[in-house]
Amino acid sequence: MAANDGTPISFELFPPRTDAAALALGRTIDRLAEAHPAFISVTFGAGGSSRERSLTVLRYMLDQTDVEPMAHLTCVGSSHAEANRLVRDFLDAGVTSFLALRGDPPLGAEDDGLGDLGSAAELVQLIHRVQEEREPFTQAGIPGLPGASEIRERPRPERVAVAAFPTGHPRSRGPQQDVDTLLAKEIAGATLAITQLFWHADDYLGFVARARSAGVSIPIVPGIMPVTTPSRLARLTQLTGVEPPAQLAIDLEIEPDADAQNEIGVAYAARLAGEVLADAPGLHLYTFNRHEAVLGVLDRLGLMPSSRPAEERNVTNT
Ligand code: FAD
Repeated sequence: MAANDGTPISFELFPPRTDAAALALGRTIDRLAEAHPAFISVTFGAGGSSRERSLTVLRYMLDQTDVEPMAHLTCVGSSHAEANRLVRDFLDAGVTSFLALRGDPPLGAEDDGLGDLGSAAELVQLIHRVQEEREPFTQAGIPGLPGASEIRERPRPERVAVAAFPTGHPRSRGPQQDVDTLLAKEIAGATLAITQLFWHADDYLGFVARARSAGVSIPIVPGIMPVTTPSRLARLTQLTGVEPPAQLAIDLEIEPDADAQNEIGVAYAARLAGEVLADAPGLHLYTFNRHEAVLGVLDRLGLMPSSRPAEERNVTNT
């Protein structure tokens, strides 16, 4: 599925930590679904800390919406057997799209504590292998017929996405290593890349050009986040190591009004998305579990179904 003009849109959420947040997240997902996203991805705590909470959100999407759920999975610190079990559990839950990540080791972890899989590329291979090794069929109950069951084909992975780092991974030795790592993920079987957030169109466009000349051919979807408070901007910088533009930081800092801050963040993200969209295969928006800002970005770009004139809404996308 795609937004109004055929541009595939996707969103990222993180699993809620409280019951109240889980309830609010259900409403957020329902609102995000109105944008007809190609998928909504759900993050995964490295080491499996959010495994059950991630699964709950993914199941909500499967059971209550038409949206394709994508599960982030990390492999850092896992043995082969544990990673294998993890992939099987998510496939058994009906999830067929994955974002395969290595994840970050706990601070101070020694190299031998990283687990059996050293990189996201190895997890991509494992996801494909687990899928191939599984019994192709499963026995499932028939809704409405207690006690009855039928043989069904097991769900197969639809997308195996990976992360890409336009401004460089913090541990990377240089821009070439970031491109080489992405190429290794594609060779391992990745079908899609989603970028770390970036703040300048040239960072994304330059990275894609370097990746293409190195032989990467999978779609590289820009990941963009409307950041609407100075504290969130500071936290993001700490988490990603990607320095924001000084002017954006100042504008958010000196603006006392929350609505005006929201406007600053949405306007920046919409401008950035507009600058890359002509050369991008879609748009992935980091939501911070809120729908307002990301839907505001799509609205500005004319990518919400409701942004189109009524007479165009039934036009079939190509
Ligand atoms: P890899 O691509 O395997 O490696 C990352 C980098 O490490 C490489 O680019 C390379 O520079 C370096 N590297 C790898 N192997 C070697 C080596 N052998 N020698 C030297 N350097 C090496 N984290 C979570 O915990 N949960 C999530 O849900 C999550 N979602 C994310 C979603 C996106 C879109 C992005 C961009 C990141 C996400 N992360 C998440 C963060 C991610 O786990 C970290 O950035 C992690 O450090 C790298 O993971 P990776 O899959 O990119 O690893």
